[in-house]
Amino acid sequence: MPEREQLERRTTELLRRLIRFNTVNPPGDEEEAQEFLKGMLEGAGFDCELLSSVPGRPNLIARLPGASDGPRLCLLGHVDTVLADPADWTVDPWSAELRDGCVWGRGAVDMKSQVAAEVTAAVALAEEGWRPEAGELILVLTADEETGGEHGARWLCEQHPDKVRCDMVVNEGAGEVFEYDGRRLYGVCVAEKGVVRFDLTTHGRAGHASMPRIGDNALTKLAPVLEALADGRPSYELSPEPEGLIRAMGLDPGDLDAAVRAVEEQDPRIAVLLEPMLGVTLTPTMVSASQKINVIPARAELRIDCRVPPGYGEEHALKRIRELLGDNGYEVKFGPAVVGNRSPIDTPLMDTVKAFIEREDPGARVAPVMLPGFSDSRWFREAFPDCVAYGFFPQREMDVFESAQLMHGADERIPVADLGLAASFYAELATETLR
Ligand SMILES: [Zn+2]
Repeated sequence: MPEREQLERRTTELLRRLIRFNTVNPPGDEEEAQEFLKGMLEGAGFDCELLSSVPGRPNLIARLPGASDGPRLCLLGHVDTVLADPADWTVDPWSAELRDGCVWGRGAVDMKSQVAAEVTAAVALAEEGWRPEAGELILVLTADEETGGEHGARWLCEQHPDKVRCDMVVNEGAGEVFEYDGRRLYGVCVAEKGVVRFDLTTHGRAGHASMPRIGDNALTKLAPVLEALADGRPSYELSPEPEGLIRAMGLDPGDLDAAVRAVEEQDPRIAVLLEPMLGVTLTPTMVSASQKINVIPARAELRIDCRVPPGYGEEHALKRIRELLGDNGYEVKFGPAVVGNRSPIDTPLMDTVKAFIEREDPGARVAPVMLPGFSDSRWFREAFPDCVAYGFFPQREMDVFESAQLMHGADERIPVADLGLAASFYAELATETLR
């Protein structure tokens, strides 16, 4: 196994190099970064291929085949980032400064750090002469994740399934430590919620605004709806992922209201992260009514971001909407939906994660978590139903609260020590699973 110190140094160097490629998406411009990674992986003995859906935005696939047939492990990552406004930062977002034991820059958390750790682990193993005893190690480094994967993971899984087919995927989504009631916990992202956004419309009758009662104001009819959304929430519901998490926290998943109350008292920051895993969420974000200030609106529209647990869709969302807002007085129209997705929790892959954490951080536990949004794991779960996809990038220097604020935010940075930890994990993962 490659040494931790060496992995830390090399991952840090690679991350700094990757941050200096500006891959803000749009437009992405991932080509230079991908060519650079291809050179590294090829030099270590990987078979590499660049596949592009559009010019200048290739995806990189690197494979290291084993001596015999066996499981295929895919280390997944995206090389594009969201934008950064230098005015909000204390350093240049693309200078990759090393300061206070951290690498600073856009992508330091999401997710050039994980890409750097995955590539460093793979290259270090291959350079030492390691090859899978069985199966295959595959690195899939995608373009275009931040705007939905149309030219990246989605395109690869739909158009070139044979190039990326695998049995296990390790991607972004979780892995930062958090503490609850004296326990140290590391999340493993095993599921992602579905998105069923909708427009809620109220109706009335137009009229001149100078005489309020001449018409029937559709906008004021949104008031009770907004109030209900502000004061209430759909009832909690349990699924296997939060059940595992709540148990790992030492609480009883049999009484969700009591569990959330207990968490709220201990550490409200955790309650904020836990609640979205417990069922349907309804978040009003946009509103529109009359086009003119002196016309009473005949219709008013509220746009609501709604997320449902994996396996559910519009019908379930509507049940929760009616429960909170009543049956009458408004109309609901759903937009295009994204169905949630999940992988099983108890798998050999989870056992490997557990064994690593138990050794690295004695006494700490691993817990399943559900992402309220979605990542590239979704395309793999959809294309390959038997594939187990987890989001796991172990971090113990920076906890989940710190890290979550830096993701897509200003002064994004990551502790160097966590880069070594993550690279060690990916190296161990490859040697443990591919035999
Ligand atoms: Zn990401």
